[in-house]
Amino acid sequence: MRVKGKNKMIIWIIIGSAAIAAIAALIIFYPMLSMKPAETGEVPGTDITAVRNGGNTVFFIKTDNSIIAVDSGSNMGNLENALAELTIDPLEVSHVLLTHSDSDHINGLNLFANAAVCISEDEMQLLAIGDQNNSSGRRSLPDGFGSARLAELKDGQELSVDGLSITCIKTPGHTIGSMSFLVDKAYLFTGDAIRIKGDAISLHPFTREKEQAASTIDRLHELMKECQIVLTAHYGYRQTEDIIIG
Ligand SMILES: [Zn+2]
Repeated sequence: MRVKGKNKMIIWIIIGSAAIAAIAALIIFYPMLSMKPAETGEVPGTDITAVRNGGNTVFFIKTDNSIIAVDSGSNMGNLENALAELTIDPLEVSHVLLTHSDSDHINGLNLFANAAVCISEDEMQLLAIGDQNNSSGRRSLPDGFGSARLAELKDGQELSVDGLSITCIKTPGHTIGSMSFLVDKAYLFTGDAIRIKGDAISLHPFTREKEQAASTIDRLHELMKECQIVLTAHYGYRQTEDIIIG
């Protein structure tokens, strides 16, 4: 009887441990499961192509003479195949605008050998110190991609690419140097600064700098009053008229 009782206790300990592990896994992975990246295809009414790359979306903006990429994806091989199918030549990409330096946004950089690769000055600092707080461990550029290729962007800086205006807007929170890009005063690329849930924007679930993030939401709300579409890396894109702006 005593042995049976002991066995029962062991079984309950195993069941309890498994339940705790399952709940912990759910808490950790639920935010990732709830992500809804835009699928590959044209963004209607624009010259923008969305390219699904694993858990996120990379965007390509076509102008008459060049292509601008927003971020570079998590898996270079998959991105290369997707671009071949879409007949987008990565060597024709003139600029890669990085919203931040998490690995799922910079892993494909080596595809764009002819591009100027632009990133905010604060995010450069995270790369320079090899910041440890990254989904894949130590924050670093892909092998073979030298930091000398990075061009620093400042908050409020204006770029002009083949007649297209690009305003660089610091939107910290997810990381200290996260940056959004307002293209042609119409398209607001936010990377991981926000998520879109229902008819509202809110903080990305993995937000490191919570104090900064609240003012980032305010800033993006102001910008959304003036533009047409907001485009995120993990939560698709939406017409701003369909979003309640606080
Ligand atoms: Zn991301």
